[in-house]
Amino acid sequence: MQILVVGAGVIGLAVAREAARRGHDVTVAEKTGGIANGVSSRNSEVIHGGLYYPTGSERARHCVRGRRMMYEFCASHGVGHRKCGKLIVATSDAELAKVETVLAQGQKNGVEGLEMIGGNAARAMEAELNCIGALWSPETGIVDSHGFMLALQGELEDRGGMIAFETTVESLSFKASQWHVRFAGRDAGVLAFDAVVNAAGLGAQALARRIENYPAAKVPRLVLAKGNYFGFAGRPAFSRLIYPTPVDGGLGVHVTLDLAGRMRFGPDVEWISEETYTVDPKRADSFYERIRTYWPALPAGSLVPDYCGIRPKLTGPGEPAADFLIAAEPAHGLPRLVNLFGIESPGLTASLSLAEEVVGYLA
Ligand SMILES: Cc1cc2nc3c(=O)[nH]c(=O)nc-3n(C[C@H](O)[C@H](O)[C@H](O)COP(=O)(O)OP(=O)(O)OC[C@H]3O[C@@H](n4cnc5c(N)ncnc54)[C@H](O)[C@@H]3O)c2cc1C
Repeated sequence: MQILVVGAGVIGLAVAREAARRGHDVTVAEKTGGIANGVSSRNSEVIHGGLYYPTGSERARHCVRGRRMMYEFCASHGVGHRKCGKLIVATSDAELAKVETVLAQGQKNGVEGLEMIGGNAARAMEAELNCIGALWSPETGIVDSHGFMLALQGELEDRGGMIAFETTVESLSFKASQWHVRFAGRDAGVLAFDAVVNAAGLGAQALARRIENYPAAKVPRLVLAKGNYFGFAGRPAFSRLIYPTPVDGGLGVHVTLDLAGRMRFGPDVEWISEETYTVDPKRADSFYERIRTYWPALPAGSLVPDYCGIRPKLTGPGEPAADFLIAAEPAHGLPRLVNLFGIESPGLTASLSLAEEVVGYLA
């Protein structure tokens, strides 16, 4: 089949690579000038264990499976990564009870090696930590996400696939058993494909509305939840990922590390109505307050505004978190079309597993 994938983020690249591996002729259309210019370059680069999500949900299934696939892929393709493990810390009895529910959920999801440890055991691992107990997840890690996406692009191209940059997909219509796709930008015009995958991230809903005869009621709402990061100007205090007890809308302001060992904090949750990528320095105040609950020694003046990313959520503040929405023919009635909505965290971790499911719908 001739397959068009819209979007060269981690999801589009993983889907395109998987389709090419199965012998399809694959084109990716990307509206910007390069890969990974959207949500995929603005995250924590964490390979998640798969602890938090309801058992049987797309997020639980694809996170646990995708994580195992990702470690294998990184090892075989020379992509930088480190299985550094993570501690989810509790600083009160109420938090301890919540962390224990995360443990139970993680075990139900089949996450390996989880263990509750006491405050002293946690401090033996990370001396500067303040907590009364913690959940240790040894399978969690970090990855060079750009290196990962470059490897996906490389394998796609080795198998004959191509990416058309500065090429926006404007609209789609299904006629005479083919998808007719209108492009704008560098490769403007109309071309026909057998199958289409909409992996446009924050643009997925807008594109779905421009698919002829796509049921309007099947386009979910898009809710933007910005996550801001602050860099730490000092010697890193931790060598493992440190997460607080989860909060509404996100996993809490956590310690993330890059492969060079540098430490940063984030993301928080800021509900916004329009895409914007500035980090308000004033948000540092709430970061200091939250971080000091588990790291009391955080020095004053050490946090500097860094980058931010926007979660493409399907539900808003106070509402239960939505699952990934993988809308294939049974969901909308149109053949060989998959729309991917709400691919927020753990989308990076889930990408290789998700790609297999998506390509499976196209046959
Ligand atoms: C703050 C934050 C932290 C996160 N942390 C983690 C983490 O630690 N671990 C993890 O596993 N996941 C994490 N995630 C989730 C992960 O980053 C995303 O799930 C993933 O990057 C989504 O990738 P994507 O390909 O769907 O979207 P994108 O990377 O946004 O790709 C979509 C692409 O489509 C293009 N596009 C849009 N419309 C069109 C069009 N009409 N025509 C052509 N091209 C178009 C865009 O330019 C873009 O390049 C995090 C997310 C956020 C926001």
